[in-house]
Amino acid sequence: MSETKQHQQKNLSSREKFIQSANRGKLLANKCLRCAHIMLETIYYCEKCSGNKFDSVEYEGIGKTVTYTIQAVAPEGFEDTESYAWVVFRVDNAPFRASGFLPGVKSSKDLAIGEKVKVVGFNPNHGLILQKI
Ligand SMILES: [Zn+2]
Repeated sequence: MSETKQHQQKNLSSREKFIQSANRGKLLANKCLRCAHIMLETIYYCEKCSGNKFDSVEYEGIGKTVTYTIQAVAPEGFEDTESYAWVVFRVDNAPFRASGFLPGVKSSKDLAIGEKVKVVGFNPNHGLILQKI
């Protein structure tokens, strides 16, 4: 009988680091060492120059809603949520947008474009979890 052992990784993956930051209300980004372009940590190659060497930069997970889509049926893992919005928001003081899940939005009356949202956590299936400020 063979035994499979899971090796504990010493270095956290990009995704794990991103999740840890999200759980602290932050957004982890990568700054390309070649062209200084800044992207979310979850992107592995620079969008501008295809470089793959980065510095980590952390931003406050706060921004303004740019656009959103209301989903009437919650996806798996959110069965307790009646409805939610998939929100794209422009991150304050950062040169990029991010997107996440904002529970409790039933109609366009519940969320305005330009309204402030913040990152409050991370769901492994659905990504960033947001809250209205
Ligand atoms: Zn680059």
